Amino acid sequence: MISIEQAQVLILHHVNLLLSEETPLLQGVRRVIGEDVYAPWDIPFCDNSAMDGYAFSHAAIQGDYLKVTGFLPAGAEGNLPVAAGEAVKIMTGAPIPPGCDTVVPIEDVEAAGQGIRLKRDVKAGSHVRKQGEEIKAGERVIAAGTLLRAQEIGMLVSLGRISAAVYRKPDVAILATGDELLAEGSTPLPGKIINSNSHSIAAQVLEAGGNPVMLGIAGDDMSVTRAKVMAGLQADFLVTSGGVSVGDRDYVKEVILSLGGDIKFSKVNMKPGKPFTFALLNGKPIFALPGNPVSAMAGFELFVRPAVLKMTGHAHVFRPVVKAAMTETLHNEGGRPHIVFARIMLREGKYFASSTGSQSSSRLSTMTAGNGFLKLEPGTCLAPGDEVAATLMNRVLE
Ligand code: AMP
Ligand code: MG
Repeated sequence: MISIEQAQVLILHHVNLLLSEETPLLQGVRRVIGEDVYAPWDIPFCDNSAMDGYAFSHAAIQGDYLKVTGFLPAGAEGNLPVAAGEAVKIMTGAPIPPGCDTVVPIEDVEAAGQGIRLKRDVKAGSHVRKQGEEIKAGERVIAAGTLLRAQEIGMLVSLGRISAAVYRKPDVAILATGDELLAEGSTPLPGKIINSNSHSIAAQVLEAGGNPVMLGIAGDDMSVTRAKVMAGLQADFLVTSGGVSVGDRDYVKEVILSLGGDIKFSKVNMKPGKPFTFALLNGKPIFALPGNPVSAMAGFELFVRPAVLKMTGHAHVFRPVVKAAMTETLHNEGGRPHIVFARIMLREGKYFASSTGSQSSSRLSTMTAGNGFLKLEPGTCLAPGDEVAATLMNRVLE
C-alpha cells in the first residue's frame, strides 16, 4: 500500500498545467499569471511632488525667501515657467515644473508677503519622486507564475493593463454514488442520508480555484455510474464519492476499468480514507473518494487540492505547516498513519494544537470544529507540551 506522500507525488506527476487565458484583471484575483509582464513606460511617469508644498530650483535659492508665482494642483500638466529664486505651490503628485528640482513641504515654510520663508534648511532634491525611480520602461515587473493579489492587480493597471493571461480554472465534475443518498434540501428518512459530499467537494473545488460541475447522484447502479463517469470526462477531471471500497455494490473501480481506465492505485496507507483511488481515463484524472464525509474531505484535501493548484500554475501546492505544542494527550495505537483533525490556535505568538475529538469518519463535526490537521504515525504517543507539525487548512484560531 502506498503512503500519503507517494500518492501525492504520483498524482502531481500525472496532472498537467492548464493553458493560460486572457482574463479581465478582477477575474484574475487569487489566480496565477502565465506571462511575464514588462513595463511599457517609466513609473513614476515623470518627476512629481511627494508632498503638498512648494517647488523651486535648489541651486537658485538666495537667503530663505522665495516669491510664489504659480500653483500646480494634482492633475496639472506642469510646464509652468518658474524663474530662478521663485517657487510654485505644488500639490502631491503634480509634475515638477521645468527648472525645479526640490520641494519643501507646507509644514516647513511660513507665509511672507507674496511668497514664503523657509523655516529650516532644505536638502536639494527632497520630496521629489523621480521619473523611473520605481520601475524603468522595459523592466520585467511581474514574472510568469506569480499569484495575483490585490497589489499585483494595482501594479498591472498602473502598467496600462486591463487583462492578463492567467491559468485557466479547471472544470471539475463531481459525482456522488450511493442508493442511500437524498438530494440536498431533503429531510432525512430511515436508511437514507443527505448527499453532503457533493457540496463539500464543490466547496473545496471553489476554494482551490476550480469550477465545480455537479453530476448529481448515480445511486449504486453500474450503468448509471458508467454514464455519469463518461459525462464527467467532459470536464478537466472527475471526483467521485463512495462506492470505491469493498462493499457488494461498490462499482466505481469496476466502471473505470470497464471503460478502459488505468487505476494507478486504489488504497493509501492512511486513516481515514484508505480506499482512495486514483485513475486515468482517456487521459483525464479520476479521483475516487470514499463515501464517509470525513474520508471524502480528507482525500480531497490531501490529493485533489494539490492537483488543482498544480494545474492552475501555483508554485506552492501544499498547505503551510506550523510547529505547535499539544494541549492534550493523543495516541495512534493503530497500524496506519492517522490524519487527526485539529484546532490550531495562536496564543502570544505560539501555536497550540488539540484534536477536534472523536475522529469517526462519518462525523463532519470532526472538521467543522477545527481548522487543520495533524498526522500521527503508528505508535505515536503525544503528551501535552509535545511539539507536533500541524497543517493549517484555514485561518488560525485565537
Ligand atoms: P461508501 O464509501 O459508498 O461505502 O459510503 C460509506 C458511507 O458514507 C455511507 O454509508 C454513507 O453513510 C456515507 N456517504 C456516502 N456517500 C455520501 C454522500 N454523498 N454524502 C454523505 N454521506 C455519504
Ligand atoms: Mg456506497
